[in-house]
Amino acid sequence: MKVVVSACLLGEACRYDGCSKKEDRVLTFVEGKEVIPFCPEAPVFGTPRGRISVVATEEGMLRVKKDADGSDVTEALIEQTEVLIKAHPDADRIILKAKSPSCGIATTPILDESGNEIGKGNGVAADLLLHAFPDVEITDEGGF
Ligand code: SF4
Repeated sequence: MKVVVSACLLGEACRYDGCSKKEDRVLTFVEGKEVIPFCPEAPVFGTPRGRISVVATEEGMLRVKKDADGSDVTEALIEQTEVLIKAHPDADRIILKAKSPSCGIATTPILDESGNEIGKGNGVAADLLLHAFPDVEITDEGGF
């Protein structure tokens, strides 16, 4: 069984703040399985890095932007996620980190262009994975 997992849940210190979010329940679940660590942000921005957020633009689009200067980093994250999808089309299970602008599933804060939270949604990588793997169980670490 091949399981794609947000790398920070496996204990990799790849979060923006240089920390991990190791989840023992996830580690127990993946024991004996083929594990594919996935972090779309670290290869692009390095670690540690500035925060990014999902922003609903005035044109009605959801984009991922750097908090510091508002620059749009959506395409880079899409590219990283597409690399994973192409490399592992046979994934059997996907476990993602909640609340992340990349990995969150319905838990990611959506901001307006002034930085106010206006709701919750998917991170950009999670959204792509949900569409690419419609028959695969995809949850965050709360799904255990
Ligand atoms: S939540 Fe996703 S993008 Fe953020 S550190 Fe974890 S694996 Fe990387």
